[in-house]
Amino acid sequence: MPASRNRKNADDFRDQIRAKGLRATAPRIAVLQALEKLEKPATHADLAADLSAEGWDRATVYRNLVDLTEAGFVARVDMGDHLWRFELKAKKSREDSSEHPHFLCSTCGEVECLPKDAVRVTASSRAPRALKRNDVQIQITGRCDRCGTAPVRQ
Ligand SMILES: [Zn+2]
Ligand SMILES: [Zn+2]
Repeated sequence: MPASRNRKNADDFRDQIRAKGLRATAPRIAVLQALEKLEKPATHADLAADLSAEGWDRATVYRNLVDLTEAGFVARVDMGDHLWRFELKAKKSREDSSEHPHFLCSTCGEVECLPKDAVRVTASSRAPRALKRNDVQIQITGRCDRCGTAPVRQ
């Protein structure tokens, strides 16, 4: 990424953080920039590894992830595999990012963001109201394309 674009990006995040009445600290901006670059949700460990090169330690990354999640910038994705993953809610490249389904590969454990219309849920009459309102998180587990086409070893 060219330095000028990186700078612009940091300025945008600084404004967004301040608009929520929070202090736009360097680690908060660094965490948002790291998330902006990703195509899928990342664990705290992934992000800490990413940001250690910039001099931020694991505890700092964690604390700022929690702050940014509470402030509504970051969504916490729970795929039921005992790992929390984090992603930016409003990503410029993807308007609907807060409400898309996620796919967890049961073989390799990779998580992918799916397009919003990749999965359609039809609520039957006895479904909970949240489902009828489409106010649910959709998470799917199965084998990803890479694992699905690999020969099964016994
Ligand atoms: Zn897989
Ligand atoms: Zn996602």
